[in-house]
Amino acid sequence: MAKLKILKDGDTALRLKSRPVSDINKRILTLLDDMTETMRHADGVGLAAPQVGVLRRVVVIECEPGEVLELINPVIIERRGSQHEIEGCLSVPGRQGYTDRPAYVKVEALNRDGALVTLEGEGLLARAFCHEIDHLDGILYIDHAEMVTEE
Ligand code: ZN
Repeated sequence: MAKLKILKDGDTALRLKSRPVSDINKRILTLLDDMTETMRHADGVGLAAPQVGVLRRVVVIECEPGEVLELINPVIIERRGSQHEIEGCLSVPGRQGYTDRPAYVKVEALNRDGALVTLEGEGLLARAFCHEIDHLDGILYIDHAEMVTEE
């Protein structure tokens, strides 16, 4: 595994739409491993491939320590309720802000074996699903957050 460089706000790669993964090959599996290592090293709870300069629809999330969720081509298929909570992003260091997110989301994605899986999340996990999947469409939380810290 290798630690990757996390791109910061202002880098154009963070604003582009990522392409779906059509073939879960060795390169994608290595990307998943490297993203998990990078996320852990940075003390994050989630990381999307465009944050490391790879414009592919790949996300890793670790809201529960030791429980890494790997999502390939994730899609939110259900949203319920709402929450207004504080959020941050490894690509926007030193800043935090409040966002409006669904309280519950259901996500469909492929796992590393290519199987279609359904995942559900509430609270922090629901926020993480939304935040990371937004990255795949070039959206940063600061686009719609009420910021509480300023640079
Ligand atoms: Zn982020």
